[in-house]
Amino acid sequence: MERLTSPRMIHDIQKKYDFHFSKRYGQNFLTDGNIIEKILEGADIQEEDYILEIGPGIGTMTQYLCERSAHVLAVEIDQKLIPILNDTLRDYSNKTILNEDVLRINLKEELKKVSDKPFKVIANLPYYITSEIIMNLLERDLPIESITVMVQREVAERMIAPPGKKDYGALSVAVQFYSKPQIVTIVPKTVFMPQPKVESAVINLKILDEPPVEAQKEVFFKVVKASFSMRRKTLLNCLSNGLNMDRQKVIEVLEKCDIDGKRRGETLSLKEFAKIANEITV
Ligand code: SAM
Repeated sequence: MERLTSPRMIHDIQKKYDFHFSKRYGQNFLTDGNIIEKILEGADIQEEDYILEIGPGIGTMTQYLCERSAHVLAVEIDQKLIPILNDTLRDYSNKTILNEDVLRINLKEELKKVSDKPFKVIANLPYYITSEIIMNLLERDLPIESITVMVQREVAERMIAPPGKKDYGALSVAVQFYSKPQIVTIVPKTVFMPQPKVESAVINLKILDEPPVEAQKEVFFKVVKASFSMRRKTLLNCLSNGLNMDRQKVIEVLEKCDIDGKRRGETLSLKEFAKIANEITV
């Protein structure tokens, strides 16, 4: 099958199908086979793997995935890309193309229709919904062993940031609660068509069997949300406001946890958030 990793191929397809890039769907298509190889390597794709690809576009990376794995479930929101995908992936029988919004389908059901085995997720996501899609995948308790995605570089840096770093925030805590994140590679703007305004990075999230801390999930995330709710305010203020809790009660909780109420939320580790969550009832 002819590779689609060149601006000329993309031009030809655009012409043949009268296809125009959609800003609304965040369409920046990959034109570089080396980057695709790096993504596949970072995702550790094996012949027996089942893959969920979100946003296959014209099928550039999907072709590689079909050749190297057992089956690819490709979910693409843009109806105009479906005839193109049927054409560019016509040689592969181990694929399922779904014309759906990944945020709106019952993914558990769709994955089960393909296989009972755990899936590896691969995606080059539209930047404006990256975090929403990733959080959705992490929180839905899906049979997923890893997520390897191209995201805006800053978002990747936020995901791996440790406590105390300026990038550390609610997204870092959430991602690190569910997975072990690792940046695979930094990606220049020049490998996309059209070129985005910002640099990208590929990040691999290896889903953990168990969270790294023990806490009731719902309370833990309420504490995290409250702690990051007002960036320059103290933890004491953030928690009493955000959790709607009596100040004196928060002081007592923090004392029990041996955590200084004058600290900022962005200095707390996952362990410390869990400690607080285990001391309160909200
Ligand atoms: N994977 C292709 C590539 O690397 O060349 C395309 C990447 S492009 C950045 C993002 C793709 O996601 C587009 O094809 C877009 O139509 C699709 N997309 C956007 N929002 C989506 C959603 N909610 N569900 C499924 N696909 C979506």
